[in-house]
Amino acid sequence: MQNRSDIITRFAPSPTGFLHIGGARTALFNYLFARQAGGQFKLRIEDTDRERSTTEAVDAILAGMNWLGLEWDGEAVSQHARADRHREIAEELVAQGKAFRCYCTPEEVEKLREEAFAEGRALRSPWRDGGTPPGDMRFTVRFRAPDSDVTLHDAVQGDVRWAAKEFDDLILLRADGNPTYNLAVVVDDHDMGVTHIIRGDDHLVNGGRQAQLYDALGWDRPVFAHIPLIHGPDGKKLSKRHGALGAEAYREMGYLPEGLRNYLARLGWSHGDQELFNDAELIAAFSLAGLNKAPARLDFDKMAFVNHHHIRQADNARLLALLTERLEGEEGLVSGAVANARLTPAMDMLKERSKTLAEMETQAYFLLRERPFTIDDTARKHLSPEALALLSRLRAVLAAHNDWDSEALGELLKAFAQDEGVGFGKIGQPLRAVLTGGAPAPDMSLVLALLGREEAIARLDDHTRPA
Ligand code: GLU
Repeated sequence: MQNRSDIITRFAPSPTGFLHIGGARTALFNYLFARQAGGQFKLRIEDTDRERSTTEAVDAILAGMNWLGLEWDGEAVSQHARADRHREIAEELVAQGKAFRCYCTPEEVEKLREEAFAEGRALRSPWRDGGTPPGDMRFTVRFRAPDSDVTLHDAVQGDVRWAAKEFDDLILLRADGNPTYNLAVVVDDHDMGVTHIIRGDDHLVNGGRQAQLYDALGWDRPVFAHIPLIHGPDGKKLSKRHGALGAEAYREMGYLPEGLRNYLARLGWSHGDQELFNDAELIAAFSLAGLNKAPARLDFDKMAFVNHHHIRQADNARLLALLTERLEGEEGLVSGAVANARLTPAMDMLKERSKTLAEMETQAYFLLRERPFTIDDTARKHLSPEALALLSRLRAVLAAHNDWDSEALGELLKAFAQDEGVGFGKIGQPLRAVLTGGAPAPDMSLVLALLGREEAIARLDDHTRPA
């Protein structure tokens, strides 16, 4: 019996683009499983396809992993750098008669494939039983597909069985000597000591082929867990049409990494009906048994709900720093120490009113507007001559008031409305117009309190004094 701490998982992205949301979830599951066991979570960059792999994509994947807090153990492994080892194993299989050199030309292969297809079976090379090579022709190395059926004991899909005739004599080394995906993955996973592979079920058939390779090599198979891919809100496979495919996009939309971790963990994995998890809870609760067999759908409302929870839980100073970073360079806003002083006491209000950091920017806007600002047309409608006169009288009351907290200010506004013999709306709307310019904001007593007396009165003066 294996020690739990011997558990090794990995994430093995192909660096052909950003960190896809599906990839991020795969990485997260592998991360959680390893952390729970006190084992290791490794990262391997599957850069064997030299034409499609780019350094920018590697950097984007690493940045996405770092942002999401999916810390991997040890150095990231480059699959390409291990090509000699892959060739060595392929040659070993040839020496054992479990693989062979195939001298078929691409045209011959095409023909064989058509024949095989017509006969309802996979491709078998005429070179599988040896033969005399025709001069110095180029060859591929192919796996000699075993005659027995294959069963993969998948932790999510259950036992999946393929008949022997369903699998080709798989190419292990291309004519240029480069290893193919299935060979490289098996050799790397084995050498990295990987014990559990959680990945998308688009690799399920590869799982069957890889199982054959493990068996041929006499290596223990890892535990495979093939998870259904993520679907869009419309129930169709996630595609460009659905937008927001990269983890980076969620960062830009203002999701917190812990919010996205929580949401992604629940996308295709469940633990009773619990929706909200902190990291320690996720690590403690994760299990392969909780992985769902049915595809999960992206649900942006739920994502926002989960993120809101994490925004509420987050430390104010950290949120303030994240918010400030996002606001940097925006026109028409105060910045630096002034902004900081105004935002600090507003953080609890902002957390309540914002499901994402992007929403928080919108909610913070009224606080930071540089005076004098223009009032938008809708808000301006509340500034009749009578309303302006009312605001001038309110200004005098406010200027004489010392107790500048929202509760006391609320009482003051109520008393003022009563003295004036008007409903609160008659004061609230014009006051909102001059204090916020029409930007989203909480109730007026809190707006006054958060702006501070000096700024509030200055804003009143900007708009009520005759020009
Ligand atoms: N590199 C493969 C991919 O990005 C994953 C391979 C694997 O997990 O075995 O789809």
